[in-house]
Amino acid sequence: MKKTALMFFPAFDWSLGETHPEREERLLYTQEQLFEEGVMDLPQIVQLNPTVAPLQAVCRAQALFPGPEAHDLEAHRIAAGSALVMGDAWAKKEIHNGFALVRPPGHHAGAVVRGNRGFCTLNNEAILINHLRSRYGYQRIAVIDTDVHHGDGTQNIFYHDPQVLFISLHQDGRTLYPGSGFAEEKGGPNAWGQTLNIPLPPGTGDEGYHYILENWVLPRVQAFQPQVIINSAGQDNHYSDPLARMNVTARGYGKITELLQPHIAVLEGGYSIESALPYVNLAILLALAGEDYSQVREPKGPQRAPVQFEAFKRYYQELRSQEEKAKANWTKRRVASLLDQEWVSDAYSVYYDTEGFQEARQEYIRPCAHCGGTVVIMSKLPPDETVSTLIRIPFQACDPCAQTGLELWQLLTEKSGAKHGSEAVLLQNQNSDEILLWQRAKGVTRF
Ligand SMILES: [Zn+2]
Ligand SMILES: [Zn+2]
Repeated sequence: MKKTALMFFPAFDWSLGETHPEREERLLYTQEQLFEEGVMDLPQIVQLNPTVAPLQAVCRAQALFPGPEAHDLEAHRIAAGSALVMGDAWAKKEIHNGFALVRPPGHHAGAVVRGNRGFCTLNNEAILINHLRSRYGYQRIAVIDTDVHHGDGTQNIFYHDPQVLFISLHQDGRTLYPGSGFAEEKGGPNAWGQTLNIPLPPGTGDEGYHYILENWVLPRVQAFQPQVIINSAGQDNHYSDPLARMNVTARGYGKITELLQPHIAVLEGGYSIESALPYVNLAILLALAGEDYSQVREPKGPQRAPVQFEAFKRYYQELRSQEEKAKANWTKRRVASLLDQEWVSDAYSVYYDTEGFQEARQEYIRPCAHCGGTVVIMSKLPPDETVSTLIRIPFQACDPCAQTGLELWQLLTEKSGAKHGSEAVLLQNQNSDEILLWQRAKGVTRF
């Protein structure tokens, strides 16, 4: 019998505040509902137990500056660890698929972490993906983000990665946090087309959502032939969600799951604690377990009218042609301080809404036709503007890209005494058993 795993980590003692939408009781009603409906008694359901994600797995995906010890990670590491347990069970073929019902969420946490943003500090799916390939060698992994918010953190981590297909469907960034996720954002110079963003108009309901999945998302996923399919299963597209304005029902979510056929679903957002989460979670779990979800009913129906379907189809066609027409536009330049090599560079800033500060990033990508390319991210934080640097050697790097990463590590950590040296440098070598962190005050820590 095909087993469907369920994992609960409700983090009842962790929250950002009593009245905060991401609060302790978020999964309380879900837990009750699943037991009440007898889902836990289905013969194919198995329950797995959460564990704490090792710092190595965390640092393989994200650079926490100036070091992991500077962040409050306790609940986040258990949420990430739960995804890892599920991933291991799946890779060992102990389960057919699974749903990690965990909090806090993770998809707004990016390649560099300076604090909490959008309720996220650790990116549970990214930590899972890098773990799966470093341990089991998977070369093609797809992650489909069905949270109502753009999965900007996940996109940021895999933007230069040709071996990960990232697809995000979300309410249009012009009308919702975090304000990104447009069709033109299609991936970096070595991974162009490996990111697909589908911003949806507010009011999109089941019909429109499923239409996009069937006509755009699924063909794209099938063409990529992923070995693993991961779903960032946010539930804030539900019509009763207080943070967004979409019109998806619990049964609609069941159908999304049935269409995507994810191997592992990880809970992201969803803040309608009593009116949506218990029903959406139930429908997703039933769909994963191959059971009928058509009888799942929320107590209250939708309050707003959905977008008219003909108008929606026109929107879809326009968006598709806009995505197809978007052209890559990179300039390479020699950077003296980076081994005098040619890099593509990009500058951008990241806002941490939980604490209200801005990080400035300068990103360098080594153009490469043979691998994902070395990535360097220099992160600056006010008020003292000290720099911390992430050096990433991609999974299955070619020799010159691996060599470049190692030489930069030598250079930046040796130069540490210099006035403009980094405060911390993380060497994220995806092909090594060790992730190295150098800190000015402490020297090198090996994870
Ligand atoms: Zn969300
Ligand atoms: Zn390369």
